[in-house]
Amino acid sequence: MRQKKFILPDSEIPKAWFNIQAIMPNKPMPILHPGTRQALKPQDLYPIFCEECANQELDQTNEWIPIPEEVREQYAAYRCTPLVRAYELEEALGTPAHIYFKNESVSPAGSHKLNSALAQAYFAKKQGITNITTETGAGQWGGALSYAAKKFGLECAVYMVKASYNQKPYRRSIMQTFGAAITPSPSMSTRAGKDIITVNPNDQGSLGCAISEAIELAVSTPNCKYTLGSVLNHVCLHQTVIGLEAEKQMALAGEYPDIVIACFGGGSNFSGIAYPFMRHTILEGKKTRYIAAEPKSCPKLTRGKFEYDFGDEAGLTPLLPMFTIGHTFKPATIHAGGLRYHGAGIIMSQLMKDGYMEAKDYDQTDTFKAGVLFARTEGIIPAPESCHAIACAIEEALKCKETGEKKTILFNLSGHGFVDMSAYDQYFSGEMVNYSPSEEELAKYIASADALNK
Ligand SMILES: *Cc1c(COP(=O)(O)O)cnc(C)c1O
Repeated sequence: MRQKKFILPDSEIPKAWFNIQAIMPNKPMPILHPGTRQALKPQDLYPIFCEECANQELDQTNEWIPIPEEVREQYAAYRCTPLVRAYELEEALGTPAHIYFKNESVSPAGSHKLNSALAQAYFAKKQGITNITTETGAGQWGGALSYAAKKFGLECAVYMVKASYNQKPYRRSIMQTFGAAITPSPSMSTRAGKDIITVNPNDQGSLGCAISEAIELAVSTPNCKYTLGSVLNHVCLHQTVIGLEAEKQMALAGEYPDIVIACFGGGSNFSGIAYPFMRHTILEGKKTRYIAAEPKSCPKLTRGKFEYDFGDEAGLTPLLPMFTIGHTFKPATIHAGGLRYHGAGIIMSQLMKDGYMEAKDYDQTDTFKAGVLFARTEGIIPAPESCHAIACAIEEALKCKETGEKKTILFNLSGHGFVDMSAYDQYFSGEMVNYSPSEEELAKYIASADALNK
């Protein structure tokens, strides 16, 4: 029988995260304080994030950061995740390419996000923190953090964009099941929320407002810290367990990837699968291609500009040197909620600028078409975000069919779509629409970032 899955024992759960910052030929440009324009120091982040995460954020020297045993023990509930050879997808496509995927959907939260949630909750607990806060749009990060908080005995408060709170009751129920307190945002519990409700009692909320509320609660409550599920360097660092395992599993399969693919929101699952392989590209010149798959509706890597911009809509965060389509960008309502962010993390942005990675953008309907084929061949219903990686993998596999090349393709399956079936319904009903901003629209949003670089 041909081998379908490549599994590692618990003892192979990585003992250290890989910090690509230490080996980058050009380090990311400094993160700047928005007022003074001075480079940020870890201490500047301590009021908001726990200290260990703040230190990791700005660490450009240590290539390996040890994973605490307590975190490895929690990882063992679902790691090492399987590496799977997608034979049936290959056959359906008639491609000579070998397609592998790393299955991060097997985590209790249903996505890769738990890899960082557990680390962030642990470091907070270790510092004596009792409460953690965050915001959530689609609910994936909120679900992961709720579970992680429960595991380390922390109280978890999640601000959920009011529109999603009402439209996505199951994500809310998942967070409640894991024991978190969920507040629809805007709320009356913060100054930021009150200001908005006073002006418009029916405001349906935004990610920007939910972030402001979560940060306000964190800085105004003793022993409370804020957490974030993507974009930041320490989040990407924690995700490298994905690629470190995949590297060993590809070796078990007797192969090495020619192409590594992941969907791209803020860049954490892309970093997770790509950096451990990219280490060989940077240090040994291995010729692997790394492709980020993003939605046409939010094309920061394919059509954005590399410059300093705010990380949030309200302009409260430090200035980040990144590929951006402008912090005022208003993303269309698409089903891949996790991919609707206006910027790319600063490490990925520098790697993109230096030619280490590529990006491709996809229409929503094409990604669902790819996701349905994947579900029917490989038996897993993918998250709408993950469908972008699948669409890209299929595109590359079909190119191999044309040229007869037997490439090895590896993609990350970032999550499952069981809580996103209404999106599949819409796809099947033929009502799903595509959206791509015009040049004029994009230029207008990018101008909001340009203004910060004068
Ligand atoms: C949040 C999310 C993403 C996008 O975030 P990244 O930080 O870019 O990885 C992708 N897939 C799933 C399933 C998610 O929940």
